Amino acid sequence: MVFGWLIRFLVVMLLVRLVWKFIGGVVEGAARRPQIPPAKGVPLVRDPVCGTYVDQARALTLRRKGGMHYFCSEYCRTAFQQESRARARD
Ligand SMILES: [Zn+2]
Repeated sequence: MVFGWLIRFLVVMLLVRLVWKFIGGVVEGAARRPQIPPAKGVPLVRDPVCGTYVDQARALTLRRKGGMHYFCSEYCRTAFQQESRARARD
């Protein structure tokens, strides 16, 4: 009977190893997944409010007399509008 347990133990060990290998392969495959390369030649524009550089295609815009302004977020755009309004009042 001891032999039977030994065989069962070995089979279980084999299964665990197989599962472990499988999980390892999945994890490795996920880690190797090519990451999005940093965009080259994408025109970056500077947010005048917070100073962040933003992808021009994704930036929020505001057309002004002085030209086009670009913002990283609605928050910055609103802040810019309020600031220029406050300046106009002076
Ligand atoms: Zn900003």
